[in-house]
Amino acid sequence: MKKGYLAAFFAVATGFVLAIVLCVQALYLPQAVFASSENKMKIVLDAGHGGMDGGVTGQTTGIKESDINLSITLALGDILTDMGFAVAYTRKTQAGLYDTATKGFKNRDMQKRRQIIQAEKPDLLVSIHQNFYPSKTTRGGQVFYEKGAKDGKTFALCVQKRLNALYAQQGAKARNAMSAEYFILECSPVPSVLVECGFLSSQKDEQLLSNAAFRKRLAGVIAAGITDFFAGISA
Ligand SMILES: [Zn+2]
Repeated sequence: MKKGYLAAFFAVATGFVLAIVLCVQALYLPQAVFASSENKMKIVLDAGHGGMDGGVTGQTTGIKESDINLSITLALGDILTDMGFAVAYTRKTQAGLYDTATKGFKNRDMQKRRQIIQAEKPDLLVSIHQNFYPSKTTRGGQVFYEKGAKDGKTFALCVQKRLNALYAQQGAKARNAMSAEYFILECSPVPSVLVECGFLSSQKDEQLLSNAAFRKRLAGVIAAGITDFFAGISA
């Protein structure tokens, strides 16, 4: 009899421990809230520049904007895929999208981006860039949206709020999301943002952007801004 009680006790105890382990594990698993249907929400990620167009350059390390853009874009794509979004990219390598490095390459590169975005028919568009300013003390992330785009503005505010929280931990002042007339924002009618993830003209930002762990954190806060937008949480 005593043995039977002991066995029952161990069975209950094991069940209890297993339940706790499963609960804790569930807390750390990526939320699959966007994976429930076959029609996943699709996000196109656009890593700015590429190939012979390196974008702006870090003043101390010489790091190229195009490479930072790609690194953040790929990290963001992985996070969004884990969350259950469908993700498409305008570029996944260091190469530009202009075919041949001849006259008019920038225009061909931009037209190709538009072609990809329109063919993918996304629900959202995020373009990743790095900033540069004459003043070396200007720092932080800044999000741009198409002028007059209501949802684009709401989306931009969500991402801006998350970026500001990350940069506040690094001693940078909060920045405001702004409207702008950028080609990439006008490629599609869906909410679109261009995220300038930091200033390569600032030594402090350059140091952060040169660090792979920080780039992953940037990708994480942009993903959080995307889920805030879908959840209807504006800044
Ligand atoms: Zn750029």
